[in-house]
Amino acid sequence: MVSRDDVLAWIDELQKVYAANRQYLTDLDSAIGDADHGINMDRGFTTAKAELEKTPPADINAALKTVAMALIRTVGGAAGPLYGTFFMRAAAACANKQELDAADVVALFEAGLAGVIQRGKAELNDKTMVDALSPALEAMKQALQNGHGIKEMLQSATEAAETGMKNTIPLKARKGRASYLGDRSIGHQDPGATSSYLMIKTAADLWS
Ligand code: ADP
Ligand code: MG
Repeated sequence: MVSRDDVLAWIDELQKVYAANRQYLTDLDSAIGDADHGINMDRGFTTAKAELEKTPPADINAALKTVAMALIRTVGGAAGPLYGTFFMRAAAACANKQELDAADVVALFEAGLAGVIQRGKAELNDKTMVDALSPALEAMKQALQNGHGIKEMLQSATEAAETGMKNTIPLKARKGRASYLGDRSIGHQDPGATSSYLMIKTAADLWS
């Protein structure tokens, strides 16, 4: 089961992970964007963590909402509103729940991804974060159906997200800033797919 404290530990760790990967994500974005993705993610999760410490959330819903608001407010560009929507929808999926079982964790990610797709209108293979999130969700659903627990389920999702992330390399971007480059976006890994992979991997490392 995933508790409120497990969700807080996830955000805490994500802050560290994005701080540690700030340069890496920014370098990926410098190849096909405007070299700010790592800066954006680091800023957003540093703010989210600080706000959670300042005003401790009552439950999982409140924690995820605080993250959403912090990301929407402090992260500019495409990724801020998209990840903000992810966390806002994820929060709604956890309303009134004190703990999440495996099916609840799938529901959290499913709602989050649906929000990203609704807001950004990206389809699979458009070379965006959806290319990591969508296969991850499919892997989770499959694992849930096979009766796996949260840990195994998230490990399968991490593998699928990693494959999806790497599969963005040969793709031509059809959404976001990278799409302005046309064919020149080919041959580079998408920064948003990379930050999404890290988000799922971090959950897999912590939750069971
Ligand atoms: P910006 O492109 O505004 O500088 P970031 O650099 O923070 O914002 O984020 C770029 C990432 O956002 C891309 O690598 C891509 O994964 C993601 N992205 C951009 N547009 C969309 C979209 N319409 N749907 C889903 N993801 C998107
Ligand atoms: Mg950028």
